Amino acid sequence: MSQADYIWFNGKMVPFQDAKVHVLSHALHYGSSVFEGIRAYKTPKGAAVFRLKEHVQRLYDSAKIYRMPIPYELETLVQACKDAVSQNGLDSAYIRPLAFYGQVGLGVNVPADSQAEVMIAAFPWGAYLGEEALESGVDACISSWNRAAPNTIPTAAKAGGNYLSSALIGGEARRHGYAEGIALDVNGQISEGAGENLFVIKKGVLITPPATAAILPGITRDTLMTLARDAGYEVREEPLAREALYLADEIFMTGTAAEVVPVRSVDGIEVGCGARGPITQALQERFFGLFDGSTEDKWGWLDYVSQE
Ligand code: PMP
Repeated sequence: MSQADYIWFNGKMVPFQDAKVHVLSHALHYGSSVFEGIRAYKTPKGAAVFRLKEHVQRLYDSAKIYRMPIPYELETLVQACKDAVSQNGLDSAYIRPLAFYGQVGLGVNVPADSQAEVMIAAFPWGAYLGEEALESGVDACISSWNRAAPNTIPTAAKAGGNYLSSALIGGEARRHGYAEGIALDVNGQISEGAGENLFVIKKGVLITPPATAAILPGITRDTLMTLARDAGYEVREEPLAREALYLADEIFMTGTAAEVVPVRSVDGIEVGCGARGPITQALQERFFGLFDGSTEDKWGWLDYVSQE
């Protein structure tokens, strides 16, 4: 990870080396944190954060599920995300807000008056699965690990502890020579990748697992659904059986870090012609076009870091 010069920590910008927590922090022991992953892109009009308000709202939503009070207004954290980009002199960045329980004691259930600590870091980060993957696609596999069952760990919350599941899924895939793992839910239906949502394209129609399939309802997923419908494609949220991946014409995965990545094989079975498909490519162009201006931002998704 590239070092950031400054990190926003509990209300102020502090030098990187001063943004420290204690070894007895609650989150370190019990995973009691919620976080976001947000990207700022370089655009012709300067650095712009993509769907910033929606990401910060999801941070509050994740915290709400866990009844974790965040002692800042949403607008404060929105501005702090932009400040983390500008104070580090970045024109593109990955932004990581994190709300967590610090020194509130080591009881699993925190004292009633506990409030979250909040930090926001911004640093340069390239394509999560590699620059080449965006064009040539990745080889993925179905994980032997399922996603969390409903009413166990809520997958709609982007919580620190959830990523033990992602580490098992992604780690197993990489050990077996795949770029990424795809998990089934407890009912055996397709859920999502370790850190990405998934779309299947069959006969020109896009299908993505519904919110009930133990997914994190991704903001990039929503972006691609919107862009695809805007381009005239039919998009459905429907349960997908494992074999639908083997028989797909095209598959792609979406996520803030991963962006829009074609999947060229699943479990060693070629998807379509075993390369990036034409609809995936067209949608990637629309997605990345938002940042060079070739796709009109009809939805107000770009939030400029500095207003001129
Ligand atoms: N699922 C999981 C498990 C993730 O970690 C992510 C990345 N945040 C996504 C889906 C995609 O979400 P988004 O598009 O909002 O980044």
